[in-house]
Order: sequence, then C-alpha cells, then structure tokens
Amino acid sequence: MSSCIFCKIINGEIPSTKIYEDELVYAFLDISPINFGHTLVIPKEHHESASTIPEETAGRMFKVASRIGIAMKRELDMDGYNLHLADGLAAGQVVMHAHLHVVPRGVEDDFHWNWRQLAYPEGKMAGIAEKIISKLKIS
Ligand code: AMP
Ligand code: ZN
Repeated sequence: MSSCIFCKIINGEIPSTKIYEDELVYAFLDISPINFGHTLVIPKEHHESASTIPEETAGRMFKVASRIGIAMKRELDMDGYNLHLADGLAAGQVVMHAHLHVVPRGVEDDFHWNWRQLAYPEGKMAGIAEKIISKLKIS
C-alpha cells in the first residue's frame, strides 16, 4: 500500500535498522523504544489487521519474534521479553500495518504495563465464553 509507512520501510523508501528479513517477514528496530533493542516484526504483505495475515506468515512472525527475544536476552543482557500486538485503534494500534512488538525487559527496567484485573460478576463468565465461542471460526 503506497501510503503506508511500514510498506515504505519494506520497500526501502524510508530508512530502518534491519534485524531480520526473509520472503514473508521483515524485522527492524522501533524508532521510539520502550527499552533499547525494541523490535517490530511485520508481514511483507500489507495487512491492517493481524486477523487477515495468512497462517504461514503469522506463524513466521511469531517464530522470528521469539528468536529475536532470545537473542536480546543473551546479547543485550536482558531478563525477558514481551510480545505485544495492538489490533485496532481501541487497542492502541497507531500504524495500520499489523506488527508484532518484541520488547526486551529487565527485572529493574522501571516499565510497567498498566494491566488491570477485573472480577467477573457471579454467573457472567460462562455467558461471555459462549458468545465468543459462537462466533469463533478456525479454518
Ligand atoms: P503501535 O502503537 O502498536 O501501532 O506501534 C507503532 C510503533 O511503530 C511505535 O512503537 C512507533 O515507535 C513505531 N514506529 C513508527 N514509525 C517508525 C519508523 N519510521 N521506524 C521505526 N519504528 C517506527
Ligand atoms: Zn503497509
């Protein structure tokens, strides 16, 4: 897609610091990292949502991201990593070309995801699960 910033990165029209590339995916350093080494893994084909990425490409993204995470732990002396994918504006997706964040983490890196923990009202859990399951299509 010609106006997409990540398509431009893949095509070399916008510079990036490449970490990995194959026929399906491209990985490069995030320009505004949570921690140094923060990497984005993207499909070479333009997809706004992760839900339309073909299975082989999506699987490759996950594999590459995990391997990059391991390399970060070993070579950047980090303690762990987060894989993060925002799908849709409401989820915080800013760039509308699907991307998987690989965020290197240190025990004392002073970064906190604001992950809240709600409690289900009595009897609500099963109904929610049924609604999701009723629309679930895995082909
Ligand atoms: P998200 O909020 O999940 O859509 O994340 C978009 C990410 O893309 C942000 O972390 C940005 O820092 C990153 N980003 C935007 N433009 C560039 C760029 N030209 N090169 C590298 N990373 C970028
Ligand atoms: Zn794109």
